[in-house]
Amino acid sequence: MFLKTIYRKIPYEYAFFFRNVYDEIVKAYLFLFHILKYGNADMFNNINIETTTLCNRRCGYCPNSFFDRSLKHNEKLMPEDLFIKILRDLKSIKFTGRISPHFYGEPLLDKRLAGLMSMAHAILPKAKLEIYTNGDLLDIPLMENLYEAGVRNYVVALHGDKKENELNEERIGCLRQEIKTAGKKVAIDLINLRDDSYLSNRGGLVSVKNIAKKVFCQYASNALVINYAGDVLLCCNDYLGQVSFGNVAKETLPEIWNKPGFKKIRKEIRKGIFRAEICRKCSAGAVR
Ligand code: SF4
Ligand code: SF4
Repeated sequence: MFLKTIYRKIPYEYAFFFRNVYDEIVKAYLFLFHILKYGNADMFNNINIETTTLCNRRCGYCPNSFFDRSLKHNEKLMPEDLFIKILRDLKSIKFTGRISPHFYGEPLLDKRLAGLMSMAHAILPKAKLEIYTNGDLLDIPLMENLYEAGVRNYVVALHGDKKENELNEERIGCLRQEIKTAGKKVAIDLINLRDDSYLSNRGGLVSVKNIAKKVFCQYASNALVINYAGDVLLCCNDYLGQVSFGNVAKETLPEIWNKPGFKKIRKEIRKGIFRAEICRKCSAGAVR
């Protein structure tokens, strides 16, 4: 957590140099953490669940700028009963990690969000509910609703140019102060993202100015990703859902996670063996 906080504060131009050292430390840390917590080094501690596909922005480094998946007329919502099924599957493995309602949609656009988080908190009271958002819709009434639902953590990605980033940072700073004054302990981390940030090419879907090539990858091992339809995907870069290992409506999460094919690919990419096309493009920084 401490390292992650430092990492998020590192200026873009130094992030590339810091990343390899950071990745090595994270790799060792996750190995030990998963062994101690789950008795199994190969266990995810984060889960991203896409409750809506809708996003209000079109950032140049995001596939949402090139595909119509996030547009209003294409909006897809994850059915509530499917969301609950996922929570119950997580309960069956005593999951206490981070749950975040996002993939490429903006979670605050989902009117059901507080209700969904409330269900997550009721079923998994020890899990950490963390909202990843672009922050555009974040305000005190919404934060208070989400607080009642059990949400104590936010990661706000600030998009846009330097000026816009600064204005938004100021606005979020005010929200942070207001919610604190209201006696609610809420953590809000900020990430500044701009065209010249060191970014992922999203498995080769987008061209970015600065990309850090991967020697190995922990993403698939540490964070499980489920899209609105219940498909369990390789990682958060699989925007088009090209590499799926099963659907949570038909199988349980542990069944999907423990499939030999899924285990094999996780093990390989942890070692830097990138066989899937999406991983080859992602690790090499290549564009389709
Ligand atoms: S980067 Fe985030 S805010 Fe920007 S278009 Fe993609 S999902 Fe939306
Ligand atoms: S290397 Fe593969 S698993 Fe890792 S982030 Fe890239 S696409 Fe995802």
